[in-house]
Amino acid sequence: MSGRKRATRAAGASSGGGSPGSPAAAWRRLTREIERCTRCPLHRTRAHVVVYRGSLTPRVVFVGEAPGAEEDRTGVPFVGRSGRRLDAAIATLGLAPSEFGVLNLVKCRPPGNRFDRRAERTCRPYLDRQLALLRPRLLVTLGAHSLRAIDPDAPPVLRSAGAVRPDHAPPVFPLLHPAATLRSRAWHERWERDVARLGRCLSGELAQPV
Ligand code: SF4
Repeated sequence: MSGRKRATRAAGASSGGGSPGSPAAAWRRLTREIERCTRCPLHRTRAHVVVYRGSLTPRVVFVGEAPGAEEDRTGVPFVGRSGRRLDAAIATLGLAPSEFGVLNLVKCRPPGNRFDRRAERTCRPYLDRQLALLRPRLLVTLGAHSLRAIDPDAPPVLRSAGAVRPDHAPPVFPLLHPAATLRSRAWHERWERDVARLGRCLSGELAQPV
């Protein structure tokens, strides 16, 4: 299966129909544009462009960093071990499929999984256009790169994770990157505490409901 076909299927899973001027049609046009992108060198080594999975009317969007090997192979964000950890957290939060989406700052896999700041800058307009169409009520950043890119004024991720930042529009709730929590028992325990606090945030206990 080509990258374009795979990415379209992942991105369009819950896109529905829509007239040519509708948000769904705008999303499909943007998705096709990203799938064909050759703006940075990462296009030369990717197997698939990894655009999005989830609802087109999400309450919460989870923002990762860049595709890993499994995402590059399938064209779907967060499908490897770290994806299973994220999905377990989403299940714990009780979010229905219509309530969330998952994407990355960078849409193509960096060789060796080394995060590429130049690719991040080149790819950033796609993220901004995706978020402008999705209009989530809360952004959950996953890891240090995601937090820095979305909310540059936030303290480092180990200090920020687990507490909502209500002054950002939309509010930001930082979490550690799920992959990091697979490498350390202490960080896994921190992840579970922070996810529980995210659940309380979503229910309105920690701040205004989102
Ligand atoms: S990482 Fe982004 S900017 Fe670079 S080729 Fe992929 S879609 Fe284009």
